[in-house]
Amino acid sequence: MSSQPYDLSRDLSSLVPVHALRVLEALERAGAEAWIVGGWVRDALRGCPAHDVDITTSARWQEVERILHACDIEVHETGTAHGTLTAAIEGKPIEVTTYRIEGTYSDHRHPDEVRFVRDVREDLARRDFTINAMAFHPARGLLDPFGGRDDLVRGVIRAVGDPGGRFGEDALRVLRALRFAARLGFAIEGRTQKALRTHASGLRSIASERIGQELSGIVMSGRLAWALMAQTEVMCEAIPELRACVGFEQHSPYHAYDVFEHTARVCRAVEEFTGGLASAELRWAAMMHDIAKPQTFTRDESGRGHFFGHPRRGADVTQGVLRRLALPKELVASVVALIRLHDHPLSPTERSVSRMLLALERACPGHARELAFSLIDLKRADAVSKTVTAASYAIELDRMSELLRRRVARGVCCRVSDLAVGGADVMRELGAAPGPLVGAVLADLLAQVVDGRLPNEREVLLDAIRTKSKTRSKRSLGLPEDQP
Ligand code: ATP
Ligand code: MG
Repeated sequence: MSSQPYDLSRDLSSLVPVHALRVLEALERAGAEAWIVGGWVRDALRGCPAHDVDITTSARWQEVERILHACDIEVHETGTAHGTLTAAIEGKPIEVTTYRIEGTYSDHRHPDEVRFVRDVREDLARRDFTINAMAFHPARGLLDPFGGRDDLVRGVIRAVGDPGGRFGEDALRVLRALRFAARLGFAIEGRTQKALRTHASGLRSIASERIGQELSGIVMSGRLAWALMAQTEVMCEAIPELRACVGFEQHSPYHAYDVFEHTARVCRAVEEFTGGLASAELRWAAMMHDIAKPQTFTRDESGRGHFFGHPRRGADVTQGVLRRLALPKELVASVVALIRLHDHPLSPTERSVSRMLLALERACPGHARELAFSLIDLKRADAVSKTVTAASYAIELDRMSELLRRRVARGVCCRVSDLAVGGADVMRELGAAPGPLVGAVLADLLAQVVDGRLPNEREVLLDAIRTKSKTRSKRSLGLPEDQP
């Protein structure tokens, strides 16, 4: 990947947020030493200082608490076992941690002990990469014992100290290396890269939700295709379900690439189609859409490969993976819906657009509109990543996308809340109490409106509800029967 030249001559002092300065000053006036450290320094040198500021200090957390309280600064005990407190000024959090080093990591994930130390350099030495191991103080300037600033200029991710030892201590750093390389567009230094491969299997002993967090960062970098192709081993340790796709030949005239390379190409294509702004659900769906191809593979008499049922199976596998990674529920539901529908035939007709909207609304109530655009992008990326002949389908999808845009501009009705009637109308017309029946009636009306069988007009819909109550027995509607 290309490195970006940064102008590192700028003075960071003017960039330090006022709330961080207050904490620094409070600690130093009380005789402690304190520095801003880690991500803020890295990003400020790049010219894009983040909002989150971490401070590291010589004072023990009990002292920090006392000093900040005395200055009327709110303090929360967020990780005192590791020497961490979180100060809050006008709602802005600042993490303050005592200089510390970590003992041995016998289980590759938790240090057996944390030892507080007196020298900030020791604290910097325990940090993962040189670009994350710099400290800054408005009066004392930049403290950069491992050449982090040069690595920023060169665009390099380099482990602090012996890479093998550092990844052996904490295997999560393997994924963190990918996340920073992907986010910043940096290369990974040679020895660090070699150690990554050797230590990737250590990820098996890391808690899934921590893997999920780092993976989310990689997915959202927009460089998922690079991560998959250049760091295959690490990605397959992070998501073992991907491994069966690597080198899996499809034996199909529609596929020029094996399942894994096709997947990476789809990830690249969704970025191209969205100008690098693909949504989280589209990115995850691109990575996982064909995950069940190896397990659904069959060959017919002519030797041609088929993958019957792979979208449904893939949706199930993906649901399991994303839940294990503790991703937000809504995101999981959206990704699963996109994968389940990614192979459904679509044609550039109003009816086809309606069906798609309805299926998405059923899967993810309230999100059909955004998901419909994502689904078209996914299908288009899928098509251009197969063979040249399959790419013609992409043109058809462009027309479909145009239809959808026009439909949205007209104020498309694709969720229950878009209907010209609501739950109160249903209850009044049917004399029903709140309950699942009301939702079922509204869903039925929505299906008819989306399908074009009914216009979305209040009087027409009220009539439809009345007809429903007349034509079906009250019992079948779940209503109380009339007294004789
Ligand atoms: P981001 O902008 O993604 O939050 P960050 O650099 O602040 O980037 P964090 O994960 O918040 O990353 O960690 C803060 C700092 O703590 C890092 O810059 C690094 O110095 C150190 N750090 C975090 N995790 C580890 C780890 N597993 N091993 C060593 N150092 C770590
Ligand atoms: Mg951070």
